[in-house]
Amino acid sequence: MFRMVEHLCGHTGKVDVEGPFLAVEEQIRKIETSECPVCHARKQNIIEGFIPLHGTKEQCDRAEPIRRRALERARTLGRYSSGRDKNAFNELENTIRSIRFAEWWIAHQTDALENLARRIRL
Ligand SMILES: [Zn+2]
Repeated sequence: MFRMVEHLCGHTGKVDVEGPFLAVEEQIRKIETSECPVCHARKQNIIEGFIPLHGTKEQCDRAEPIRRRALERARTLGRYSSGRDKNAFNELENTIRSIRFAEWWIAHQTDALENLARRIRL
């Protein structure tokens, strides 16, 4: 059996209340004292300099992990670069943060990084 518990942000999380009492209490307390994963990700995005996505909620939910993955890959690759390449990777990261159309990310879910790298001649 599940119980819905409200996060700090007002969204709800699900707790399986069939487990041991202390474990269930701990899960409930965790939810009540934190934001939901979606709101947490939204705040992280602001910290990391992403601009807000444009699109329907479904499109944005699908696009979010795609652009995060693209940024992580760009960062990983950029870590092993030097000189002019380093600048190009910085430009690539900035481009990733600035594409706001959820549709674009969904359309390029398998080749986003390659597509953007071509644009800035990496
Ligand atoms: Zn929330």
